[in-house]
Amino acid sequence: MTSPFQLAYIGLGSNLESPIEQICQALNELATLPLTRWVASSSLYASRPVGPQDQPDFINAVAALETRLSPLALLDQLQALEQQHRRRRQRHWGPRTLDLDLLLYGNDSITHPRLHVPHPHMTVRAFVLAPLNELAPALTLHHQSLSAWLEGIKDQPIERLTVSTREPNATI
Ligand code: AMP
Repeated sequence: MTSPFQLAYIGLGSNLESPIEQICQALNELATLPLTRWVASSSLYASRPVGPQDQPDFINAVAALETRLSPLALLDQLQALEQQHRRRRQRHWGPRTLDLDLLLYGNDSITHPRLHVPHPHMTVRAFVLAPLNELAPALTLHHQSLSAWLEGIKDQPIERLTVSTREPNATI
């Protein structure tokens, strides 16, 4: 028996080695994951780093996918993509070529040593909430709208960019 498709939201971030290209390439790679259909991606956003400030600004986006992969199998795929982007990380919250977070997986709440869904920090990060709100403005998190969560962190600088991400081809 095959499992049903679940709607998953992926957060992307990069601040090294041509971050805009890293994110556009990663969006195309997400569109080719096995047992997965492309749904949509947000605009690109620029944000200041959380933590150490002596590093470049981040480029962020959110992608929506429909997938038959289990949550852990999807996490495996995301971590493999991070490795392909030669992810180098010397310190916590330091610069990275590609960071992929599983933000939401259907309506699931997951507590596992490798995986917490909804992603624990997503309600306090404008670089997640702003692109997610663009894709899914009707979503609520912990019974509160995304725009209400955003209102609480409006001091976090974030800029929507006009760069085209070239919509990846739909695949299955
Ligand atoms: P970070 O690089 O800071 O995003 O953290 C990566 C680590 O967080 C990995 O060890 C993952 O197993 C773990 N993790 C827990 N929940 C999630 C999630 N929702 N998405 C991505 N990684 C997660």
